Amino acid sequence: MLEIVSLEKRFGQNTILRDVNIKVARGELVFIIGPSGSGKSTMLRCCNRLEEPSAGDIIVDGRNIMSGTRRDLDLMRLKVGMVFQGFHLYPHMSVLGNVTLAQRKALGRSRAEADERALDMLERVGLAHKADAMPSELSGGQQQRVAIARSLALDPLVMLFDEPTSALDPELVGSVLKVMKDLKEKGMTMLVVSHEMGFARETADRVIFMDGGVIVEEGRPEQIFGAPKAERTRAFLSRVL
Ligand code: ADP
Ligand code: MG
Repeated sequence: MLEIVSLEKRFGQNTILRDVNIKVARGELVFIIGPSGSGKSTMLRCCNRLEEPSAGDIIVDGRNIMSGTRRDLDLMRLKVGMVFQGFHLYPHMSVLGNVTLAQRKALGRSRAEADERALDMLERVGLAHKADAMPSELSGGQQQRVAIARSLALDPLVMLFDEPTSALDPELVGSVLKVMKDLKEKGMTMLVVSHEMGFARETADRVIFMDGGVIVEEGRPEQIFGAPKAERTRAFLSRVL
């Protein structure tokens, strides 16, 4: 569903990502771990060209988003949902307004269609009863679930998560992870950057350890957490676990 091929990213003289190759099969949850500054966010942002790769290819559902017209890119961008650490909801719009806006602007859905889809997705994240609330009336965990619903409402083929629970108070983390686990169980294809190692052990199909802009090793969660091969992986895990 998503294939990152020989991805390279440079900022000026600095090479931030070097020969990154990741394949995420349909329905798979691939988990990325690694120290701060290792290039995880940059890698995710390259997947929908929020950040322009210096070299390499990004293939979504068989289509290379590095080639093709501007319109092809806009269409494919909608197919790659992204959830960030901060929720970026519009503060002056209701929850329903936030979840319908891009559906109407980018997909041209009618208000009725967009409302229906939004309510379905809010139901899925357990927040249908908050449709008329303003973002400021919600907890951080609820705001993040709205951001997930907003993304899902655009019918993505794959969802990218960049530290979705890092900004949350500890007691709110579980509700967001539960939504992500539920998404995985429903067959969503997901690439997740997070420090929630317990969640990775429980739900990830594969774990990739990145450091210094390269993939150091990857494997099943029990292998990476239980018997990491590389010294750098062991050192990282001993700091965070
Ligand atoms: P991570 O998400 O793993 O913490 P990032 O992808 O945010 O890492 O950053 C990787 C490296 O790229 C860091 O050294 C960061 O300073 C650098 N970097 C990120 N964005 C830019 C940018 N727009 N310009 C220059 N350097 C950047
Ligand atoms: Mg980051």
